[in-house]
Amino acid sequence: MSPSSRGAHEDVAAYALGVLDEADHQAFERHLMSCEECQAELRELSEVPGLLDAVRKDRSTSLTGPLDDDRTPR
Ligand SMILES: [Zn+2]
Repeated sequence: MSPSSRGAHEDVAAYALGVLDEADHQAFERHLMSCEECQAELRELSEVPGLLDAVRKDRSTSLTGPLDDDRTPR
């Protein structure tokens, strides 16, 4: 538990999403090998395809939704 590794556990989601940069990615993989907690969490994350989908959608779609329809003047 060195002070330089800020909550490596918290990188699980970022790792699953593939948004870590290469240094962090490798550092986390090293952590993952020795951390059963993260292995379990990573498995849980990958069993929820909707989660990753939602994030990808959020990134690629622009915010033109049904909200605009609500604003139609009568
Ligand atoms: Zn961990």
